[in-house]
Amino acid sequence: MFPALPDKPSNDALEQAILDFWDRMRIFDQLRAKNSGGPRFSFIDGPVTANKTLGVHTAWGRTLKDVFQRYKALRGFHQRYQNGFDCQGLWIEVGVERELGLNSKKEIEEYGLEKFAQKCRDVVEWSAAELIKGSVRLGQWMDWGRDYYTFSDTNIEYIWQFLRVTSERGWLYLGHRATEWCPRCGTSISAHELAGSYTDRDDPSVSVRLPLLDRDGEALVIWTTTPWTLPANVAAAVHPEAKYGRLANGDWIAVERGGGAEFDQVAAGADLVGWRYRGPFDEIGPGGGVDHRVVGWDEVSMAEGTGIVHIAPGCGAEDFELGKAEGLPVLVPVDESGLYYGDFGWLAGLATSAVGDAIIDDLRERSLLAGTETITHRYPECWRCHTPLIFRISDDWFISVEEIRESMRAANRSVEWVPAYMGSRMDDWLVNMADWNISRRRYYGLPLPFYPCSCGHLTVIGSRAELAARATAPLDGLQELRRPWIDAVKIRCESCDREVERIPEVGDVWLDAGIVPFSTLGWHNEHAVPGGSGNGAAAGLTKADLPDHAYWQEWFPADLVSEMREQIRLWFYSQLFMSVTLTGQAPYRTVLGYEKMLDEHGREMHGSWGNAISAEEAFARMGADVMRWQYCAQPPSQNLLFGFGPGKEIQRKLLTLWNSALFLVNYANAAGFTPSLDDLDSPDSLGGGQQHLLDRWAIARLARLVTDTTEAYEQHLTVNVLRAFDGFVDDLSNWYIRRSRRRFWNGDEAALRTLWICLVQGLRTIAPVTPFLAEHLWQTLVVSVCPDAPASVFLAGWPSAGLADDGLLGDIAAVRKVVELGRRARVAARIRLRQPLSLLVAEGAPGLEPYLGEIADELRVKEVRLGRVEATQLSVRPNLPVVGRRLGPDVPAVRKALAAGDFRELETGEFEVAGHILGPGEVLVERLEKDGWAIAADEGVTVAIDTALDDALLTEGRVYETTHLVNSMRKDAGLALTDRISLWLPASDADLLAHRDWIAAETLATSVQVAEDEQIRLTRA
Ligand SMILES: [Zn+2]
Ligand SMILES: [Zn+2]
Repeated sequence: MFPALPDKPSNDALEQAILDFWDRMRIFDQLRAKNSGGPRFSFIDGPVTANKTLGVHTAWGRTLKDVFQRYKALRGFHQRYQNGFDCQGLWIEVGVERELGLNSKKEIEEYGLEKFAQKCRDVVEWSAAELIKGSVRLGQWMDWGRDYYTFSDTNIEYIWQFLRVTSERGWLYLGHRATEWCPRCGTSISAHELAGSYTDRDDPSVSVRLPLLDRDGEALVIWTTTPWTLPANVAAAVHPEAKYGRLANGDWIAVERGGGAEFDQVAAGADLVGWRYRGPFDEIGPGGGVDHRVVGWDEVSMAEGTGIVHIAPGCGAEDFELGKAEGLPVLVPVDESGLYYGDFGWLAGLATSAVGDAIIDDLRERSLLAGTETITHRYPECWRCHTPLIFRISDDWFISVEEIRESMRAANRSVEWVPAYMGSRMDDWLVNMADWNISRRRYYGLPLPFYPCSCGHLTVIGSRAELAARATAPLDGLQELRRPWIDAVKIRCESCDREVERIPEVGDVWLDAGIVPFSTLGWHNEHAVPGGSGNGAAAGLTKADLPDHAYWQEWFPADLVSEMREQIRLWFYSQLFMSVTLTGQAPYRTVLGYEKMLDEHGREMHGSWGNAISAEEAFARMGADVMRWQYCAQPPSQNLLFGFGPGKEIQRKLLTLWNSALFLVNYANAAGFTPSLDDLDSPDSLGGGQQHLLDRWAIARLARLVTDTTEAYEQHLTVNVLRAFDGFVDDLSNWYIRRSRRRFWNGDEAALRTLWICLVQGLRTIAPVTPFLAEHLWQTLVVSVCPDAPASVFLAGWPSAGLADDGLLGDIAAVRKVVELGRRARVAARIRLRQPLSLLVAEGAPGLEPYLGEIADELRVKEVRLGRVEATQLSVRPNLPVVGRRLGPDVPAVRKALAAGDFRELETGEFEVAGHILGPGEVLVERLEKDGWAIAADEGVTVAIDTALDDALLTEGRVYETTHLVNSMRKDAGLALTDRISLWLPASDADLLAHRDWIAAETLATSVQVAEDEQIRLTRA
């Protein structure tokens, strides 16, 4: 006996029970042991930032990772299952600053770097535990407890090795340039962090009058949207070829920007070059010492402003480059926190974000303000703290990309990207990538191992051992390769023997994640060290081994990595960069990317908008399987609209599968049917052995499912897995079970066995997506009745695909099409499905002769004919976009003949008209029904039903209604499928007794009588 299934699954309870079961039976361990000798499938996990609990966004990626690892495990592949955590960088630091109420780097330093580091580590430890808990609940199988942490000393040392290689190749340099800078975080921001962080902002724009020194009463009018940069002005740029004019009041602007104003003198920009002027803030700052002059610049735009551009090389990237070319001085007005330096008069100590109005007022008082307004423009903000960025000159460490660019592009071409366009996005990024700014003036990050000496020699340390050998004192106090401890270590310059210090900067966080294909796999490591990756800050958090180089050779490159599309310029990029540098090849063979998650109405999810969904809420309300289905049903090229609404829809779909299983359990138990494990993967289940046509079809349909889902998994397209499964469940439930009801009723063993095989094999194909439901049904349908069954669906391997009988599948698909159209015609004619009809004619569905009885029975029609539907008038028009060019000047004649009905329809479905043969795609055919018929047509098939109903048909219709009603009453009364009843029909239904035997058989009645009143009644016989 199968154990009973409830009418509806309770997702949360069912999933908790399965988690317990997996845990208790150590199913995952058993699976890994089973596959340990198998072929390798190398999946490398992109580290999740450990500063939060599991969210529904992260659960999406984790689901895809789990789905493909489970699929590969079912196919017998040996895998690593190592999860990773990203543990350093601004994400972590800014969170800790907020928690501690610290608002600047100064406050962090006052708080103490050692305590600060401890707080950061605490966040990682807390978050890692939370993320693991959430991922386990999601059903993700990973080797929890052997996770990698990017803040381990091992990871740091591997990045040091990489940096040393870049240094040896001459790619590493200290740049002195203007870069985007976050004044709150006090650090520069690199190009890949900038993309996507532009927002619309309102800012003041000002026109400023700069008096000319050698032209009395005349002034240049410059224009800027960043008034805070005016105190750093050193020059004004004009376009050499543009015309400039003097207004009546002596102001010079570009003629083109004058809006039709009168000029009393006009000159070419080139003539203005060299004019000297008084700077806007010469009185209060270093600007007073600058010889301000006009320079020529081809980049000056005539699209906005006055056509004269304010140049402050200390506050802008283009200004800086122009300044270098023109030999202009560089004034840097603000410090790391965006505060004016002390030598800027009344501005000293003020923030750039706070001085806009004061600067405008000051200019107005001094009669230097020519105009002001507010403009809206795109402006970058800090990706982490959303502070508007400024430009600042800073000395940052860069890796030059010129030598590696083409090798990276070539390596990228060897990668299979899903969806393919993401590979082109990566190529675009590589074509345009600027030198990699790797230094950040922060605290909790990879310490850059750079020791520059005043003699000019730069030492780049490649390992801890080397640091120990070169240090001027023992490394006793160095508990982690991290600030503040490492700041105390000094080394000896190998060139001049002076004692030198490390630079204080830490590394870009994407170095941490990019090195993972090397640091976790033991690249260049001589001896494997069990538990060897749990060092530095990761000590006590993980038992991850440090493997040896042979291991790396086995597992590198990854067969699959998968993350969101934005990782193209982040993790996918940084690991490609590091891998091409170290090995010349890509670190992954296949990349599965996916787009963004929005709420179910297409809006971004925000906590403050009330539309964010926590993973915990989603687990409780829809269950992990439904979430996973939602993620997997998503084409990766489109944004996912995630929510409880779509979740409900999926629950409804899964209920169809559940109901089919429930049906099997009930009828199999009633019939005393017990399946045998050998039936799965046996020749019978693989097609051919069945006597009954419907059984043969169901098995062929199953074979198609296995083939289609296998292909979809291999292509990494879960959306196609679910499409195939949806279609299969629909066919099984709405055709196979429907059409076989009488056989189930009679306990037909072949039908029960076929349904059992289809359900069990079908759920195996979906097990990677909905592991809980699949496991529960495997336990119910297989383990409970087959003593030799594998203890888990995940220990059962992948189902074999039998032979899909294409001819039979095509026939039944056509039958279902005819049935569907027959139903539609009924609906159009408003005739109930239970009302028998006399005749149906189907056209355009040849070869269905063997199935006429099936169609008649399903649609309750006395007679089904295949052939010309005479119930219609044909209206045919040319399909001009298709046929217009081919017919050319004959179009009017053809159109006229078709309209006049002057054409011949051929057996082939083509039309002969005005000397042309038009194919099915070349004409638009409409069939208009005649009186007394209802028709429906689709994809070349037309079905017509005779809508006339005589008394005999009407009576039969009432019999169907009655038996249907009685059977629901049986159910409501709690009767078993096999219970017999006595039945009383309402007095007005006395004429139905003519069909007494039929009614009795359909309702398992031992007696059918007419009552004296209008009540219908039944009792157990
Ligand atoms: Zn910031
Ligand atoms: Zn030196």
